[in-house]
Amino acid sequence: MSREWVVVGKGPSGLLSASLLLDAGYNVTVVSHGQGSFPLWSGTLDFYSVDHKLRPVTHPEDHRDVLSRYLSYDQWLSGWDTWRQILAGIGVETQVDVMAANLLSPTATGVLYPRYVVPNWQYACRIPEPVTVVSWHGIADLDLESWTARYQLSSGLEAQARYRPAPGNWSPRWTALHWAGFFDTEVGMDWLMHDLEQALVGTDAQNPLLLPQVIGIRHTEQLLNRLSLALGRKVKEIPLVAPALGGIRIQERWQKFLVRQGVRLLTGEAIRISNDGVWLTDGRVLAGRTVLATGGVLGGGLRVNWDHTVTNTATGETILWSGDPEDLPLLSIARDSSNYDVVGRSSGRWNGDLHGGAGQVLGSVLKWWHSVQQEVSLAK
Ligand SMILES: Cc1cc2nc3c(=O)[nH]c(=O)nc-3n(C[C@H](O)[C@H](O)[C@H](O)COP(=O)(O)OP(=O)(O)OC[C@H]3O[C@@H](n4cnc5c(N)ncnc54)[C@H](O)[C@@H]3O)c2cc1C
Repeated sequence: MSREWVVVGKGPSGLLSASLLLDAGYNVTVVSHGQGSFPLWSGTLDFYSVDHKLRPVTHPEDHRDVLSRYLSYDQWLSGWDTWRQILAGIGVETQVDVMAANLLSPTATGVLYPRYVVPNWQYACRIPEPVTVVSWHGIADLDLESWTARYQLSSGLEAQARYRPAPGNWSPRWTALHWAGFFDTEVGMDWLMHDLEQALVGTDAQNPLLLPQVIGIRHTEQLLNRLSLALGRKVKEIPLVAPALGGIRIQERWQKFLVRQGVRLLTGEAIRISNDGVWLTDGRVLAGRTVLATGGVLGGGLRVNWDHTVTNTATGETILWSGDPEDLPLLSIARDSSNYDVVGRSSGRWNGDLHGGAGQVLGSVLKWWHSVQQEVSLAK
């Protein structure tokens, strides 16, 4: 079997596939024309969050019939462990419930939502608790008033809010990235510490302190730990709308790690797959066995045409589409005769947007990975 692999796409499916190949000793090239979905999400990995009637799911295990189409529940659990270890290896520590239940973590609008794996920087709880939230004028992505109202409604508990003036060097051009860059500096950190001491006067010291997800890009964990020690309470972040720094942090650390381990990371657009490898728009051909982790319409892997057909952008193949958006995740799964594999697309009728995007990623990557390993052991 070829030692060379080409992974097309650097969203969660692509980077997870690349890590598994790397660990097994293959030579890996990752090529992509964009960031994919990472900058859109806060970094929580959802397993099975809501059921078909949109009711919150407490135990993904209760939905084995949907989950275990290709994998046993034990394979699922060990898959999540592997993913968490990979994340820890790139410097992202995560939290899970010891009983393999979903945790609760607020969305960007303040609604507590079931999440399976949550980065340590993000607030999550097993049972709802009262919280204190501090934000600053100029963080346009967080409407603190409606956030706290929704938190109170979904948790039945109090959310104390403190709205603070922006720092002196703030400008209306600041996005979440500017805020995070400021807090990564010593000056920014000193300002933050001083401001929070004032903001917390009169608040309940038992409550966790929640801050918008702008507490640094590179030094987030150190900053949150320092704040926690100095203020004597748990300090965590809550997600904002895109660009979401949680996903950006994960992607940046993961890419750097892979490159340090010898993975080739290229920018380019795949337009054809042949037995020779992957053809790019600029004429380059990348030799190796290919796995497409190109995402759906949003990631650029599928292009919806006016005539109810869908084109797989990386292969050029066009297929008929029913017109039902629910069918989109099922399209462009590789056939037995295909000279490429596909990950990230739906395993069974699992709607990743609804039930868990990361669950869809993990399920499809594990299914592919088990078949690769089976092939290797048959060849021996
Ligand atoms: C707004 C939003 C928020 C979400 N939040 C969460 C969340 O909180 N938790 C969760 O579990 N899931 C979440 N999801 C779902 C989850 O992000 C997706 O299911 C998952 O990210 C899909 O990842 P992927 O790696 O398969 O594809 P993508 O992340 O879309 O990556 C596709 C990659 O392929 C590349 N590519 C595509 N076509 C080509 C081509 N022809 N040539 C070269 N490169 C190509 C792109 O440049 C990109 O790098 C969210 C999704 C969205 C849209």
